[in-house]
Amino acid sequence: MPRLQKILAQAGVASRRHAEELIQAGRVTINGRVATLGQSAEYSDRIAVDGKTIQVSEGHKTYLLYKPKGVITTASDESGRRTVLELMPDVPGLHPVGRLDRLTEGLLILTTDGDLTLKLTHPRYQHEKEYRIWTEDEVTDEDLDRLEEGVELEDGITQPALARRAPEGLYLTIREGRNRQVRRMMDAIGKPVRRLVRVRLGGLTLRGVAPGEHRHLTEREIEVLL
Ligand code: URA
Repeated sequence: MPRLQKILAQAGVASRRHAEELIQAGRVTINGRVATLGQSAEYSDRIAVDGKTIQVSEGHKTYLLYKPKGVITTASDESGRRTVLELMPDVPGLHPVGRLDRLTEGLLILTTDGDLTLKLTHPRYQHEKEYRIWTEDEVTDEDLDRLEEGVELEDGITQPALARRAPEGLYLTIREGRNRQVRRMMDAIGKPVRRLVRVRLGGLTLRGVAPGEHRHLTEREIEVLL
Protein backbone atom coordinates (compact mmCIF):
# COMPACT_ATOMS: atom_id res chain seq x y z
CA MET A 1 0.00 0.00 0.00
CA PRO A 2 1.33 3.48 -0.80
CA ARG A 3 2.01 6.02 1.90
CA LEU A 4 -0.74 8.53 2.43
CA GLN A 5 1.47 11.51 1.55
CA LYS A 6 2.29 9.85 -1.79
CA ILE A 7 -1.39 9.47 -2.60
CA LEU A 8 -2.06 13.09 -1.66
CA ALA A 9 0.82 14.27 -3.83
CA GLN A 10 -0.34 12.14 -6.77
CA ALA A 11 -3.82 13.58 -6.41
CA GLY A 12 -2.32 17.03 -6.76
CA VAL A 13 -3.39 18.14 -3.29
CA ALA A 14 0.07 19.15 -2.15
CA SER A 15 3.72 18.33 -2.47
CA ARG A 16 4.75 15.34 -0.39
CA ARG A 17 6.30 17.53 2.24
CA HIS A 18 3.21 19.70 2.51
CA ALA A 19 1.05 16.56 2.58
CA GLU A 20 3.03 15.34 5.58
CA GLU A 21 2.33 18.62 7.31
CA LEU A 22 -1.39 18.28 6.56
CA ILE A 23 -1.37 14.78 8.02
CA GLN A 24 0.55 15.90 11.10
CA ALA A 25 -1.91 18.73 11.59
CA GLY A 26 -4.73 16.18 11.73
CA ARG A 27 -6.41 17.58 8.61
CA VAL A 28 -6.50 14.32 6.66
CA THR A 29 -8.92 11.45 7.18
CA ILE A 30 -9.05 7.94 5.77
CA ASN A 31 -12.57 6.54 5.67
CA GLY A 32 -13.65 9.11 8.24
CA ARG A 33 -10.82 8.56 10.74
CA VAL A 34 -8.05 11.08 11.31
CA ALA A 35 -4.86 9.79 9.72
CA THR A 36 -1.44 9.76 11.33
CA LEU A 37 1.92 10.32 9.68
CA GLY A 38 3.42 7.11 8.39
CA GLN A 39 0.05 5.57 7.59
CA SER A 40 -0.59 3.94 4.24
CA ALA A 41 -3.85 3.76 2.34
CA GLU A 42 -5.48 2.10 -0.63
CA TYR A 43 -6.40 4.10 -3.69
CA SER A 44 -9.94 2.86 -3.09
CA ASP A 45 -10.10 4.41 0.39
CA ARG A 46 -12.12 7.54 0.95
CA ILE A 47 -9.47 10.14 1.69
CA ALA A 48 -10.42 13.66 2.71
CA VAL A 49 -8.54 16.86 3.46
CA ASP A 50 -10.35 19.32 5.71
CA GLY A 51 -13.46 17.21 5.28
CA LYS A 52 -13.37 17.38 1.48
CA THR A 53 -12.95 14.06 -0.29
CA ILE A 54 -10.15 14.14 -2.83
CA GLN A 55 -10.00 12.50 -6.23
CA VAL A 56 -7.45 9.77 -5.98
CA SER A 57 -6.20 8.31 -9.18
CA GLU A 58 -3.46 5.79 -9.44
CA GLY A 59 -0.56 6.43 -11.70
CA HIS A 60 -1.01 9.74 -13.45
CA LYS A 61 1.40 10.15 -16.29
CA THR A 62 3.45 13.27 -16.89
CA TYR A 63 5.94 13.80 -19.68
CA LEU A 64 8.42 16.33 -20.94
CA LEU A 65 8.31 16.74 -24.72
CA TYR A 66 10.79 18.51 -26.98
CA LYS A 67 8.22 20.11 -29.24
CA PRO A 68 9.51 20.51 -32.76
CA LYS A 69 8.72 23.49 -34.99
CA GLY A 70 5.46 23.40 -36.94
CA VAL A 71 3.46 21.28 -34.52
CA ILE A 72 0.52 22.84 -32.71
CA THR A 73 -0.03 22.57 -28.97
CA THR A 74 -3.81 22.12 -28.89
CA ALA A 75 -5.25 18.62 -28.61
CA SER A 76 -7.07 18.70 -31.94
CA ASP A 77 -7.00 20.97 -34.95
CA GLU A 78 -9.89 21.56 -37.33
CA SER A 79 -7.65 22.06 -40.31
CA GLY A 80 -5.82 18.80 -39.64
CA ARG A 81 -2.44 20.20 -38.68
CA ARG A 82 -0.10 17.99 -36.70
CA THR A 83 -0.55 18.27 -32.94
CA VAL A 84 1.78 17.51 -30.06
CA LEU A 85 -0.45 14.61 -29.03
CA GLU A 86 0.46 12.82 -32.24
CA LEU A 87 4.03 12.71 -30.98
CA MET A 88 3.02 11.10 -27.70
CA PRO A 89 1.91 7.64 -26.58
CA ASP A 90 -1.84 7.11 -26.76
CA VAL A 91 -2.64 7.79 -23.11
CA PRO A 92 -6.25 8.71 -22.25
CA GLY A 93 -6.63 12.19 -20.82
CA LEU A 94 -3.19 13.35 -21.84
CA HIS A 95 -3.08 17.08 -22.51
CA PRO A 96 -0.48 19.85 -22.78
CA VAL A 97 0.20 22.17 -19.86
CA GLY A 98 0.20 25.68 -21.28
CA ARG A 99 1.30 26.14 -24.84
CA LEU A 100 4.05 26.99 -27.22
CA ASP A 101 3.07 28.64 -30.45
CA ARG A 102 3.33 26.66 -33.67
CA LEU A 103 6.71 27.91 -34.77
CA THR A 104 8.25 27.78 -31.30
CA GLU A 105 10.24 24.72 -30.28
CA GLY A 106 11.27 23.27 -26.99
CA LEU A 107 10.19 22.17 -23.58
CA LEU A 108 6.53 21.33 -23.12
CA ILE A 109 4.92 19.35 -20.31
CA LEU A 110 2.01 17.01 -20.94
CA THR A 111 0.06 15.23 -18.24
CA THR A 112 -3.07 13.24 -17.48
CA ASP A 113 -3.31 15.05 -14.15
CA GLY A 114 -5.76 17.93 -14.30
CA ASP A 115 -4.85 19.15 -10.83
CA LEU A 116 -1.22 19.37 -11.83
CA THR A 117 -2.22 21.37 -14.91
CA LEU A 118 -4.23 23.80 -12.80
CA LYS A 119 -1.33 24.31 -10.46
CA LEU A 120 1.31 24.74 -13.10
CA THR A 121 -0.78 27.26 -14.99
CA HIS A 122 -1.89 29.17 -11.89
CA PRO A 123 -0.29 32.63 -11.67
CA ARG A 124 0.94 31.73 -8.19
CA TYR A 125 3.40 29.25 -9.67
CA GLN A 126 5.29 31.59 -11.93
CA HIS A 127 8.10 29.34 -12.98
CA GLU A 128 11.07 30.69 -14.80
CA LYS A 129 10.84 29.99 -18.49
CA GLU A 130 14.06 30.38 -20.38
CA TYR A 131 14.15 30.87 -24.14
CA ARG A 132 17.00 30.73 -26.59
CA ILE A 133 16.48 33.31 -29.30
CA TRP A 134 17.92 33.69 -32.77
CA THR A 135 17.55 37.06 -34.48
CA GLU A 136 18.62 38.47 -37.86
CA ASP A 137 20.22 41.52 -36.31
CA GLU A 138 22.70 41.72 -33.52
CA VAL A 139 21.30 42.41 -30.08
CA THR A 140 22.94 45.33 -28.28
CA ASP A 141 23.54 45.97 -24.59
CA GLU A 142 20.77 48.53 -24.78
CA ASP A 143 18.40 45.87 -26.12
CA LEU A 144 19.29 43.60 -23.19
CA ASP A 145 18.52 46.41 -20.74
CA ARG A 146 15.15 47.06 -22.36
CA LEU A 147 14.20 43.38 -22.27
CA GLU A 148 15.17 43.16 -18.61
CA GLU A 149 13.50 46.33 -17.46
CA GLY A 150 10.21 45.84 -19.25
CA VAL A 151 8.90 46.33 -22.74
CA GLU A 152 5.65 48.11 -23.56
CA LEU A 153 3.27 45.64 -25.23
CA GLU A 154 -0.35 46.18 -26.19
CA ASP A 155 -1.45 44.24 -23.07
CA GLY A 156 0.84 46.18 -20.77
CA ILE A 157 4.47 46.47 -19.81
CA THR A 158 6.34 43.21 -19.22
CA GLN A 159 7.62 42.23 -15.79
CA PRO A 160 11.36 42.31 -15.11
CA ALA A 161 13.18 39.60 -17.01
CA LEU A 162 16.70 38.28 -17.34
CA ALA A 163 18.52 38.65 -20.63
CA ARG A 164 22.02 37.42 -21.38
CA ARG A 165 24.17 36.96 -24.41
CA ALA A 166 26.18 33.77 -24.86
CA PRO A 167 28.49 32.83 -27.75
CA GLU A 168 25.66 30.73 -29.20
CA GLY A 169 22.99 33.41 -28.95
CA LEU A 170 20.58 35.31 -26.75
CA TYR A 171 18.82 33.87 -23.72
CA LEU A 172 15.76 35.43 -22.14
CA THR A 173 14.18 34.26 -18.89
CA ILE A 174 10.64 35.36 -18.07
CA ARG A 175 8.10 34.34 -15.47
CA GLU A 176 4.96 35.55 -17.17
CA GLY A 177 3.34 33.48 -19.88
CA ARG A 178 1.45 35.84 -22.12
CA ASN A 179 0.49 34.83 -25.61
CA ARG A 180 3.52 34.93 -27.95
CA GLN A 181 5.26 37.02 -25.34
CA VAL A 182 8.87 36.54 -26.37
CA ARG A 183 8.13 37.18 -30.04
CA ARG A 184 6.20 40.31 -29.17
CA MET A 185 8.95 41.56 -26.82
CA MET A 186 11.52 41.08 -29.53
CA ASP A 187 9.28 42.79 -32.11
CA ALA A 188 8.88 45.68 -29.70
CA ILE A 189 12.64 46.27 -29.54
CA GLY A 190 12.91 45.95 -33.30
CA LYS A 191 14.74 42.60 -33.35
CA PRO A 192 12.23 40.05 -34.65
CA VAL A 193 12.74 36.41 -33.73
CA ARG A 194 14.06 34.09 -36.41
CA ARG A 195 13.99 30.96 -34.25
CA LEU A 196 12.75 30.41 -30.70
CA VAL A 197 13.36 27.47 -28.37
CA ARG A 198 12.15 27.11 -24.78
CA VAL A 199 15.16 25.52 -23.13
CA ARG A 200 14.12 25.50 -19.47
CA LEU A 201 11.09 25.49 -17.22
CA GLY A 202 11.96 25.86 -13.53
CA GLY A 203 14.67 23.27 -12.98
CA LEU A 204 13.73 21.18 -16.03
CA THR A 205 15.79 21.36 -19.19
CA LEU A 206 15.83 19.62 -22.57
CA ARG A 207 18.97 17.69 -21.69
CA GLY A 208 18.92 14.20 -23.18
CA VAL A 209 15.74 14.76 -25.20
CA ALA A 210 15.93 15.27 -28.98
CA PRO A 211 13.35 17.26 -30.99
CA GLY A 212 10.11 15.24 -31.24
CA GLU A 213 11.13 12.97 -28.36
CA HIS A 214 9.73 12.81 -24.86
CA ARG A 215 10.54 11.33 -21.47
CA HIS A 216 8.66 10.63 -18.27
CA LEU A 217 8.96 13.13 -15.47
CA THR A 218 9.68 11.52 -12.13
CA GLU A 219 7.58 12.24 -9.08
CA ARG A 220 10.54 14.06 -7.63
CA GLU A 221 10.80 16.33 -10.68
CA ILE A 222 7.09 17.09 -10.44
CA GLU A 223 7.29 17.81 -6.72
CA VAL A 224 10.08 20.27 -7.29
CA LEU A 225 7.88 22.17 -9.73
CA LEU A 226 5.07 22.50 -7.19
N1 URA B 1 6.87 33.28 -26.34
C1 URA B 1 6.51 33.16 -27.63
O1 URA B 1 6.63 34.11 -28.37
N2 URA B 1 6.05 31.99 -28.06
C2 URA B 1 5.92 30.92 -27.26
O2 URA B 1 5.49 29.86 -27.70
C3 URA B 1 6.29 31.06 -25.92
C4 URA B 1 6.76 32.25 -25.49
